[in-house]
Amino acid sequence: MTTSLIAMGVATFIVINLVVGLAALSLLFGTFETLFGKPKITLLRSSKSGNIFAFGFKWNSAKEPASLDTIRLRLFNPFGNPTQVEVSKPFDSKNSSFATEVDMGPGFIELLGAQGFDSATIQIEVCSSKDGVVFQFEMRGPKFKKLVFDANQTVAEFVASKKLDVQKNSKPPIDIPIRSFIADTVPGRGPQLKISTNPNFAGEFSAAGGASAATASGPAVANFPVAKVWIEPGCIVCNACEDIYKDVFEVLADTCIIRPNAPLDDGIRIQEAAEACPVEVIKFTKAG
Ligand code: SF4
Repeated sequence: MTTSLIAMGVATFIVINLVVGLAALSLLFGTFETLFGKPKITLLRSSKSGNIFAFGFKWNSAKEPASLDTIRLRLFNPFGNPTQVEVSKPFDSKNSSFATEVDMGPGFIELLGAQGFDSATIQIEVCSSKDGVVFQFEMRGPKFKKLVFDANQTVAEFVASKKLDVQKNSKPPIDIPIRSFIADTVPGRGPQLKISTNPNFAGEFSAAGGASAATASGPAVANFPVAKVWIEPGCIVCNACEDIYKDVFEVLADTCIIRPNAPLDDGIRIQEAAEACPVEVIKFTKAG
């Protein structure tokens, strides 16, 4: 009697331990899956300024196979203007975790420069047009802007740090050339923009307040003084204006200002900065 009671106790003990062990294991793997198995998007630093959106994307391609080939950004901005923006662009399809840069076009600048962006919501979708798979991420506007502008890892660095198998994907990360707003000031590095801020053509433009010399591409353009220059709301702190004319424009953490006592006699250069501004918030009036 005593022996059978002991045997029953031992059996019960073993069964309870088995159940508890299995529950702990499933909890452990469940937590592991939740923490490390979820698709994750990382915003990266693009190699060029402008409309480039750089990102890295990790997902369990064995569990959720898909040929991802489209990135979509959506702005929901019910209290601002515009109230909605959607930009969708294709990229070379990827079958496993990857990082890439995509030229989102002018819509990206419109999205970032929307009035009321800080109250807006951003949706990022990484999709497969063939498989109908959509991975969706959502965040508030300020967080998105911070991730875009504070990103410090490039596509190449992300690929290296995550040990991604570039060969496994169809092609290495794409590098799409974009238009540049600023003259390339490094001699010998491709085509040069013939504008007054490019030192390679300094001799072909007049000093402030004078008339510019004739250029190879056209007749002389008269310089002009400016009566007033100002920045309207919507600056996306891209630095283009300051790069062109730092005596006049100063880019701060969240906007751009006109420096006190800024010189206003080189209208051509102020006009260049205004034309380079991707969100067209630099305004000026000519003197006289
Ligand atoms: S004002 Fe200057 S810094 Fe702001 S968006 Fe325009 S060019 Fe960029």
